[in-house]
Amino acid sequence: MVVATDKSNGRSIPATNISPNTIIELEKGDPVVFEKYWRKRGEECSIVIRGWEMMSYHGDAKNNVCWYMLPEVERSIRRLHHVVGNAVTHDRYIVVGTGATQLFQAAVFALSPSHPSKPINVLAAAPFYSEYQDEISILRSGLYQWGGDAASYKKNEPYIEVITSPNNPDGIIRGPVVKSEAKGKLIHDLAYYWPHYTPITHQADHDLMLFTFSKCTGHAGSRFGWALVKDIEVAKKMTRYVQLSSIGVSKETQTRVVKIIGVVCDGYQNFGSMESELFFEYSKHLLRERWEKLWAVIDESKVFSVAKYPKAFCNFTNESSEPSPGFIWLKCEEGVEDCESYLLEKLKVRARAGKRFGVDSKYARISMIGTDDDFNEFLRRVSNAKKE
Ligand code: PMP
Repeated sequence: MVVATDKSNGRSIPATNISPNTIIELEKGDPVVFEKYWRKRGEECSIVIRGWEMMSYHGDAKNNVCWYMLPEVERSIRRLHHVVGNAVTHDRYIVVGTGATQLFQAAVFALSPSHPSKPINVLAAAPFYSEYQDEISILRSGLYQWGGDAASYKKNEPYIEVITSPNNPDGIIRGPVVKSEAKGKLIHDLAYYWPHYTPITHQADHDLMLFTFSKCTGHAGSRFGWALVKDIEVAKKMTRYVQLSSIGVSKETQTRVVKIIGVVCDGYQNFGSMESELFFEYSKHLLRERWEKLWAVIDESKVFSVAKYPKAFCNFTNESSEPSPGFIWLKCEEGVEDCESYLLEKLKVRARAGKRFGVDSKYARISMIGTDDDFNEFLRRVSNAKKE
């Protein structure tokens, strides 16, 4: 690899093929950084599907609330949580969906009263994952509506609070924040509660937890997520929602999920695997390296800042470490009021604006899980950014 030395600070940032005028797309959290790992695994993680296989809508209707789920998918998900130790699966129903996106909507539907006099409020503490609001509002449902920032909810009315932990966009570990006399139901979105992003400090044990294949192994294109649900009635209602919106989840996807999770878990459960061949170790190292490079640039920046994360002991890796979130939650310093516009106009970097996450425009979110080229080019441009 060619290494170019950045003139302004003498730091080495790998050269890229990206021309200075090209806009770098870091607005979405497309997890292509993990491609490198799966390429190395080669045929071991490939699947072949013949023309006559998996033609049925059904999975395991006899034994499972989630009737379209293949039995081996359920076993894989339980195995993965057992290996990682990040969530309790005992006495939980598993509902699978076309991404956590579909399951979030299924969960809100399932937790909403069936015949309300007015829609129930769905809340999340700002900065919240930017898609929740649109997913709740798009159909103008009579059952639920977007209620805004959970931290400032003052109504004495029932609510559903979404807790994203670690949080997207800022990587912070969170708990519920609503202070209301009224009864609330909780959805825990644990999309990033995996060892490559954050120390696994405990086994999450909530009533309704959402996970996604997209952010766990990086297979966003497969469109697969799962929910761990305590209450059978909630699991049934969520399954009904998925049935009505897509009659289940692609069996091709489910087959791939089994394969990929199998490769991840086998690495940990079979002796003889080298640490660098284990998915979470490899990915954690990759993200850690990116964060270290980023801190070096941000610490000297007069234009941007990023909040520091505390270390915590990870029960999975058996060591204390800092989180390596999937996003940079960038703050512009004095003199730059609109961080997203500054990034786009001055640095030609497309970010997602703070306003989308329910906070002011001094903030913007940048993906940390894109390609090496995009990341290195981003570093180079940030290290050259000057206060005007
Ligand atoms: N929840 C959070 C917090 C996310 O960041 C994302 C993906 N960006 C999702 C849910 C949706 O994931 P999926 O790709 O499984 O629909």
